[in-house]
Amino acid sequence: MTDSSNSSSARSLQTRIVHPEDQLTPGFDSFSMPVTRASTVVFPDLATMRALVWSDDSQWRYGLHATPTSLALAQRLAVIEGGKHALLQPSGLSSISNVYFGLVKTGDHVMIPDNAYSPNRDHADWLVADFGLEVTYYDPLIGAGIEALIRPNTRLIWLEAPGSVTMEVQDVPAITKVARAHKILTAIDNTYSAGLAFKPFEHGVDISVQALTKYQSGASDILMGATITADKAIHMKLKSARMRMGIGVSSDDCSLVLRSLPTMQVRFDAHDRTALSLAHWLKTRPEISAVLHPALADCPGHEFFKRDFTGAGGLFSAVFDKRYSPAQIDTFVEALEYFAIGWSWGGANSLAMPYDIKSMRTAGVWPHEGVLVRFYIGLEDEADLRADLERALAGLEA
Ligand SMILES: *Cc1c(COP(=O)(O)O)cnc(C)c1O
Repeated sequence: MTDSSNSSSARSLQTRIVHPEDQLTPGFDSFSMPVTRASTVVFPDLATMRALVWSDDSQWRYGLHATPTSLALAQRLAVIEGGKHALLQPSGLSSISNVYFGLVKTGDHVMIPDNAYSPNRDHADWLVADFGLEVTYYDPLIGAGIEALIRPNTRLIWLEAPGSVTMEVQDVPAITKVARAHKILTAIDNTYSAGLAFKPFEHGVDISVQALTKYQSGASDILMGATITADKAIHMKLKSARMRMGIGVSSDDCSLVLRSLPTMQVRFDAHDRTALSLAHWLKTRPEISAVLHPALADCPGHEFFKRDFTGAGGLFSAVFDKRYSPAQIDTFVEALEYFAIGWSWGGANSLAMPYDIKSMRTAGVWPHEGVLVRFYIGLEDEADLRADLERALAGLEA
């Protein structure tokens, strides 16, 4: 036995593996955020553990609540969005759910724009059926007219500008002004703009939701969401609901989103350029009766887009002439080579998806008769995408 008998060699190999004696050279640095995986967070002593206060954001308690990796991502998202506090959830939809369970209760009334992300509607309908919530769907272009729909128990107004399929752009400040006058909270699904092209807190919104699954992940391989706010009291309500529901995210996933954030604006601008160019081109095609892109002058709410947004990203929709049947449009979509068929967006690959909008509306009548196809324009070369669309359009007449 040597003089190190009380440390390494007296211990069994198994214990040494669990309590390693690494001797790493200090001073390493890199641009990446370390992946701090944890369920257990280790405290230096019992007094520290007993002094923990769940509401103190600066304390580490448990891996479910935060790790350095997840907190770094949350902080950067708050900066991008122009807010102060952010919480991460394991999907964009769970962020929406966190808003409901954090801020409304049985008997409250919630308003949702008729063009909202469908799973938000479905979530709300479930809360109506099983938890005693009241919900009104409203015309997304209602503006200040929303005041007429307010009830004594109205607690929350959802916004989504533009709707990610039909692209109507809401007059956000007109709605938040009414909401504030009535002390009603507002939450926006701001996934379309990635927090880059629209700054919700400058327009009076209380809570912003991001599906990080989209541009923030940027590679169609991560599911995550965030709730962001500039208001500490709202943040704490969301945080307590999140904790009680047992919601957390993996540091590995966070590190992948962190890796994509520095390129997000560049990618967003590239999607924007190609999408807008293809939208203009599709508008000239006889097969298309309407192109719904917020930057085009005839898009409903375009004036609010021009006033409040700095960019558009990769999404737009086209309504086909009503002489084409849904089956013909299905054939068109399946004939596309570079546009995949699938949900979600924000990655490098273009997507196309037909929608039956009439069946999705309850607050108003959808004015178009032809089938709508929602396009997501990826990072492929524009000329190749255009040739692909041209070829599939030619097939429509065959
Ligand atoms: C994708 C999406 C969501 C939900 O994100 P998931 O991570 O897929 O749950 C919410 N809102 C909008 C507008 C979306 O496009």
